[in-house]
Amino acid sequence: MTASLKSPPQTGIDDFLQRRHELLIGGKWQPAASGATLEVSNPAIGRVIAHAAAGGAADIDAAVKAARAAFENPTWRLMSPRNRAALINRLADLIEANADEIALIETLNNGMPLLGARHFNIPIAVDLARYQAGWAARLGGETLQPSLPGEWHAYTIREPLGVAGLIVPWNVPFAMAVNKVTTALAAGCAVILKPAEQTPLSAVRLAELVQEAGFPDGVFNLVTGTGAEAGAALVAHPDVDKISFTGSTAVGKTILAASAASLKRVSLELGGKSPVIILADADLERAIDAAAQGIFANSGQVCAAGSRLYAHRTVYDRVVAGVADRARRLTIGSGLEPTTQIGPVISPAQQTRVERYIESGRKSGAEVVVGGNPLAREGWFVEPTVFANPDPKADIVTEEIFGPVLCAMPLETDDLDEIAKLANSTTYGLAATIWTRDIGKAHRLARRIKSGGVQINTTFSLDPVLPFGGFKQSGIGRENGREGVESFTELKTVAVDLNAY
Ligand code: NAP
Ligand code: MG
Repeated sequence: MTASLKSPPQTGIDDFLQRRHELLIGGKWQPAASGATLEVSNPAIGRVIAHAAAGGAADIDAAVKAARAAFENPTWRLMSPRNRAALINRLADLIEANADEIALIETLNNGMPLLGARHFNIPIAVDLARYQAGWAARLGGETLQPSLPGEWHAYTIREPLGVAGLIVPWNVPFAMAVNKVTTALAAGCAVILKPAEQTPLSAVRLAELVQEAGFPDGVFNLVTGTGAEAGAALVAHPDVDKISFTGSTAVGKTILAASAASLKRVSLELGGKSPVIILADADLERAIDAAAQGIFANSGQVCAAGSRLYAHRTVYDRVVAGVADRARRLTIGSGLEPTTQIGPVISPAQQTRVERYIESGRKSGAEVVVGGNPLAREGWFVEPTVFANPDPKADIVTEEIFGPVLCAMPLETDDLDEIAKLANSTTYGLAATIWTRDIGKAHRLARRIKSGGVQINTTFSLDPVLPFGGFKQSGIGRENGREGVESFTELKTVAVDLNAY
């Protein structure tokens, strides 16, 4: 733990917070055309701490024009992959150099514990950016052998898609924005970033660092604002070639429908209701720690959170008691306190939503093992809560809560098909976790599970090389790995008849 984390660097941050945050369009900072602003709150105290521009359709149109011009400009279009990578790596260096400040901004705006932001979220953003930078010089096609008459030279090339709209949510604002931005830029696109209305601040700081890194004007544009205005205008704009969206399944569906008009490419990283399966022979201490971490970290506001726990009947009581015990011992509080393990949820709306689910769980007859009570303190906090033996059809089991609420259910069978059926019994398919010492069984179960990710004997496997995304209603497409960067490209096939001239 560094000294700066014990006493966060408040100077500089106060200036930053009080600044009138603007939009970055074509290299120029400017207020929203309408002059409108958003109130930005600190969820740990439940009070407004800053204001940001509320961009609308006119600002989106200006940003798309700037991005299009930058995309067509030879300075960016013909920049060598090595120089593109160098710019992204310079951005990564700047993020690293400013990590204390960015972590503090993230904690004040999102509520996450500062130590986690400083030692986990911001370093992950740096790591992702450096990984994506490496793709700039690695994208390419292949040579192909047609069976057409004569002699042929045929090959494919990967070209950047063009102008990409990047829409991110509030739960891990900085790392998600950095990942989408650097992936798109590595592919050679020009981008418009639209952060969540609740968390524009770390995106503003990112935009300043993008400028400092020296990207050509208009290659990166920031339009803060609401989803209903700025977000919808970005999705509807006919000159945007791709939307990369992370957020709720409901909004993802409206984006897919709205993109049909211009046949935009769409990548969707949506919600989940991910199962954690603990078989009888699992390393229980590790599994219990990980299960608690997997649902309570970031106050459960994680798309891949393990929110359905299935433990074999023979270990069920021990697992439920163990997770409940860990929930009880978690220190809840402001992310600025070094002892805090669980911060607030993002907004009063989210707090009410989670509390309603807890109420509905109680009414459906599920047993509250721990938590479930309102916390009498300022800010928007929710107690870590564990339900046991819920009705499998209850809302708390089938719907994404996006809060620190776990549903624990016993596995009454050893049959892998039966277990997979339970794991697959949702409309989602983002992540699943399996705990067992029987490695053959683990892989056989992994094959039977319908989700974009399966983690065995670990709860966390986020790494830039690992493609991430959902089956079913958890999304379309993958981020990270080769698939992630290729989703910002078009494939062109060139065929030459070598006998023609
Ligand atoms: P959300 O309402 O879907 O918002 C996500 C982003 O979309 C925000 O920037 C939002 O702006 C914008 N938006 C809203 N309506 C829009 C529209 N009609 N057109 C274009 N953009 C629009 O989700 P959220 O409540 O912020 O985030 C929580 C959800 O995200 C959860 O369901 C969670 O599972 C999911 N999530 C998924 C992943 C993943 O990788 N799979 C990661 C994180 C979160 P506003 O801020 O104005 O609403
Ligand atoms: Mg929203």
